[in-house]
Amino acid sequence: MTTVAIIGLGNMGSGMADNLVKGNFDVTAFDLSEAALDKAKGFGCKVAASAVDAVKGAEIVVTMLPAGKHVHDIYANQILANVDKNTLLVDCSTIDVGTAKTVSELAESRGLKMLDAPVSGGTAAAAAGTLTFMVGGDADAFEKAQGVLGAMGKKIVHAGGHGAGQAAKICNNMLLGASMIATCESLQLAQKLGLDPQVFFDIASNASGQTWSLTTYCPVKGVGPQSPADNDFAGGFASALMLKDLTLAMQGAEGVDAQVPMGELAAKWFEQHCDEGNGSLDFSSIINKLA
Ligand code: NAD
Repeated sequence: MTTVAIIGLGNMGSGMADNLVKGNFDVTAFDLSEAALDKAKGFGCKVAASAVDAVKGAEIVVTMLPAGKHVHDIYANQILANVDKNTLLVDCSTIDVGTAKTVSELAESRGLKMLDAPVSGGTAAAAAGTLTFMVGGDADAFEKAQGVLGAMGKKIVHAGGHGAGQAAKICNNMLLGASMIATCESLQLAQKLGLDPQVFFDIASNASGQTWSLTTYCPVKGVGPQSPADNDFAGGFASALMLKDLTLAMQGAEGVDAQVPMGELAAKWFEQHCDEGNGSLDFSSIINKLA
């Protein structure tokens, strides 16, 4: 049985730990939260008293942490010095491209293989084991990670070298954030011009305006397939997480001098939306700003 240490058992990491156990891995879990550890125990994970204890002897380490500073701290100060030389390191957190590259280079300087493997799919996909992984790192490490990522996800894409997984993630989410706002304003304008939203949905879903934000995740209650709009925007992908990803995209763009006018506007709108107290609502609730 392959031994896996998983660190970070929050909304995403707990479902991932559960699926690793179901996938027949020998899983040791660590989180700063006792409640998260108790939940992991319930899934059949062993629990460790520290990150250092969790990674000792592990063949694979998976981390699912809030942000770049957590990832940098834990790898630089606890993980890298305490793993075996053949241990594969896989960070699934969403973090900035720069930190992802720095941490991977630190790992490589010790002869260790590391992948950045952020996910798309949210908590439901984490629980169901149907995440999409966007992976940066070398091809050998990518091959070696197939089993562990396959236990937690259904699609695993090699995006390129170190940091490429994070680049793919933030560019995808910048596109999503901007397209959701465009979808919301089109739906609102259509209604103000006298169109029934269902009629507009039926037309645009089959015309050149078709987009995932409309067809699969329509922000209007009762229109299109079931979405957070049908549940007063509870659940789904929180506006605060969309803002986090847009902020990472803006940092990435600044670092390489890229022009991202629509991304900038989307970041500004989501920042205001969160400041107005909507951070925990699904990101499609941005339609309420246009009412
Ligand atoms: P979360 O806040 O629910 O969980 C993070 C966990 O990390 C917490 O349980 C926390 O106690 C733990 N933690 C923090 N520092 C730690 C440390 N030093 N040692 C051990 N444990 C530590 O966050 P989440 O929603 O699970 O998201 C995790 C990552 O996944 C984030 O980077 C997020 O952007 C990304 N993500 C989230 C979603 C989503 O829908 N929630 C979707 C895609 C990607």
